[in-house]
Amino acid sequence: MDRLQKVLAHAGVASRRGSEALITSGRVKVNGAVVTELGVKVAKHDHIEVDGEPVEIEMPVYLLLYKPRQVVSTVHDDKKRKTVIDLLDSKISERVYPVGRLDYDTTGLLLLTNDGTLANELTHPKYEVDKKYVAKVQGIPTNDELKQLRKGVKIDGRMTAPAKSKLMSSDDKKKTAIVALTIHEGQNHQVKKMFQAVGHSVMKLKRETYAFLDLQGMQPGDYRHLTPEEVKELK
Ligand code: URA
Repeated sequence: MDRLQKVLAHAGVASRRGSEALITSGRVKVNGAVVTELGVKVAKHDHIEVDGEPVEIEMPVYLLLYKPRQVVSTVHDDKKRKTVIDLLDSKISERVYPVGRLDYDTTGLLLLTNDGTLANELTHPKYEVDKKYVAKVQGIPTNDELKQLRKGVKIDGRMTAPAKSKLMSSDDKKKTAIVALTIHEGQNHQVKKMFQAVGHSVMKLKRETYAFLDLQGMQPGDYRHLTPEEVKELK
């Protein structure tokens, strides 16, 4: 269930304001009856018309997916690899797409939605959504290198924003370490490039959190709908 003006705006009929004006001026019908009040809620099965023309509606959907390895974060893949959309069952008929990307071999939390406004906001650097990654890296980062990651390192000619980094564990024999890195930017391959900038290549990468959301109770390949409260908190 969603508010009529939001559904109309989402369907591309008009802007949110424009949709409100259509409703208050009596041009919108729901299941055959004119609705002039704002705030009426509609669902998928409701029949909506504007000026007598049916409107194809698609309700906003928000999914949290635990992306497995070897899956592409796109809707289509020219190389015919498995996509995140292939992981959804047929009950999800809405045309959702990923909010940002995770690399083919990266696992972890990925949001999928058909709400373009929210997707744009969340991926805009201004919103500074914190994302926590846990990386297995070659070699054991020194305190100084961890500090550099925190302060910012140069990748592709620019400095990264302040981040959080923490050595979680290390294997002195294998010379590998597990490091948590929290960033709010989202450049292409940013985490891998940041570790590379301090001399450590990433062997495995997982995104554990996105804003206040985590993967608790989920396995790779699982997904769930966000609750209305979670959607509200993200906005
Ligand atoms: N940074 C990376 O390098 N890869 C990802 O998949 C996500 C962030």
